[in-house]
Amino acid sequence: MKKFHCDCCGLCCRHINRSNLLTDFDRGDGVCKFLDASTNLCTIYSDRPDCCNVERGYQKYFADRYTEEEYLRLNYDACAKLKAESFDNR
Ligand code: SF4
Ligand code: SF4
Repeated sequence: MKKFHCDCCGLCCRHINRSNLLTDFDRGDGVCKFLDASTNLCTIYSDRPDCCNVERGYQKYFADRYTEEEYLRLNYDACAKLKAESFDNR
């Protein structure tokens, strides 16, 4: 699979209350308790859950439903949506 390109904007990790898969990671305000707010990097990156790992999540759960290109596109679209919302709320 082509590598998913993340620009480390941190927006997905700051809106984890949108996913019921990460409820236990929410520090109480929708931000993941494992996000380093100063760098926007994940402090458990190598051990992050499948839902935070595009390549692993695809292989384990979505390979029978989407092509790699379709799945990457869905993820890029989700990133773009978050960024557009964030821009609108400035
Ligand atoms: S919203 Fe997308 S680009 Fe931003 S940190 Fe998350 S995966 Fe990376
Ligand atoms: S575990 Fe890491 S990648 Fe997943 S939401 Fe938290 S900070 Fe982001």
